Amino acid sequence: MRVGQVSSSSFGARDALKGVIYAKPIKNGETQEGIINEALKELNEAKFDKTDVLYMQSMGINPPFESGSEAVEYLKKQNIPIQYGKFSDKKVHACLGRNEEGKPAVLINARYRNEDDKATILATAEAIAHEAGHGKDNDTMNSIQEELDNLSLNVLVHRAFEKKYPDVFDGKDSFFFTEGVSLYPKLFFEYGADKTGLKARVADKYGHMPAGDKKHPPSKLAEQIKELDVSA
Ligand SMILES: [Zn+2]
Repeated sequence: MRVGQVSSSSFGARDALKGVIYAKPIKNGETQEGIINEALKELNEAKFDKTDVLYMQSMGINPPFESGSEAVEYLKKQNIPIQYGKFSDKKVHACLGRNEEGKPAVLINARYRNEDDKATILATAEAIAHEAGHGKDNDTMNSIQEELDNLSLNVLVHRAFEKKYPDVFDGKDSFFFTEGVSLYPKLFFEYGADKTGLKARVADKYGHMPAGDKKHPPSKLAEQIKELDVSA
C-alpha cells in the first residue's frame, strides 16, 4: 500500500525508484514508545564537540542544528511524531514521511521496532536527528549537500554518544550499525584530505540528486560527489 510517500529524504540506500520510497506507518506500542522516548532523551542530552563542528564546516558541511536538544526542540515545536514504518526499501533506516493521519512524521524502519538495547536506542536517536534536519528547511527539495549536512548530524550525535558511553557500540555488527551509525563517523573522519570513501559512499546513495538546492548551495565536496555519479 502506498501510504506516506517520501520525498527522498532517506538516510539509507538508493531505491530502484531513484530516491522515492514508500513507507506504511505503524502505530506505536509500549515497546516502541519506550525506545522512542529514551532515544529523544538521549538526543536531547547530546552535545556536539566544537572541534568536530568546525571540522564539518571546513569541508563545506553545515550541520542544521547546534546540538541534539535543538533537533528535539524542533520536532516538539512542529509537533512531528516519531513512529515506525514498513518501507518499500528495507535498506533505508528512517525517513521523513507521513503517519496514518497524514501528518508529517519521522518514520523509523519497522525492522528495528523491537530492539530496545542501548546501542539501538542511540542509533535511533541519530536517525531522528538526521530526519529532523531534513524537516528543518521546510521544503521538498533534496540534494547531495542537504544529505551531507544531515549526515553530519548523525556523526556529531554519534561522537557525543561514544564519549558518554565508550563501549556501547562495540561488537554491534547488524545493518543499522555497519551501514549507518558506525559507518559515517569513520568516513567523515577518514584520515587525509581526499575523503575518497565518503565521496564514493554518498555518490552511491545520493549521487542521483542535484549537488545542491536553494537552501543548501553545493560545496566543492558536493560537486565532486556529483561528478562521481555513474547514473548521470
Ligand atoms: Zn537523508
